[in-house]
Amino acid sequence: MDTKMNRQQEWYLLGTLVAVFGGRFSGRIGDYAHSARFQLKTAAELADDETERKRRLIGQADSLLSRMMNETELLLMACGGAVWSEEDELYLEIMAQRMEPFEDGADGVAVFSHAVLKERERFGRWLLSEDMSMALNGLLVLTGRLRRLLRHERKRLAEEEGEAKHRALFPEAAESPKCPVCGSPMRLRTAKTGTNAGCRFWGCTQYPACRGVREIIDGM
Ligand SMILES: [Zn+2]
Repeated sequence: MDTKMNRQQEWYLLGTLVAVFGGRFSGRIGDYAHSARFQLKTAAELADDETERKRRLIGQADSLLSRMMNETELLLMACGGAVWSEEDELYLEIMAQRMEPFEDGADGVAVFSHAVLKERERFGRWLLSEDMSMALNGLLVLTGRLRRLLRHERKRLAEEEGEAKHRALFPEAAESPKCPVCGSPMRLRTAKTGTNAGCRFWGCTQYPACRGVREIIDGM
């Protein structure tokens, strides 16, 4: 399969791997990792439109992971190891690993656990190492990567919540307009840069392949 993994699949799988590897360390590292994974599991099981709850659970997972990283760094230093820099060859090697997408189907749990096993093998080279410094650093890299994904997801969910609020305020705008360039539906976005920074506009759902935009007309 060469399709790209969907966002939720990626953070849920990565969150599970962090718990699988982190769980090898007794005490708080394992506890935090397991609790974070539970929040992510709960978030992943929510319906797509439960954005606010999902965002909150992901936020809680992120804060648990932050504590877990703190414990991991301390254990690493207690073992006489140093945290790898982002230029470290091993850091880059782990970051370059691409996980394999899998089918979400009726047999979800079995398929998922199979995916976990496969990725456990992929990252096990570092994270299951007998060398504590290697294993703990690997855990830090993987957790950092997961937290980056979670930050993006929280931001995206917050944007979706904004759109839902906008639709509640302007129900007549519930139907999104069509893209003037390619005819796809459009979604509300917020300009990040330029003189219109902070302003809302309709952007093509095919972005970045299509850059079609429309101004928001009041009440529409
Ligand atoms: Zn378009």
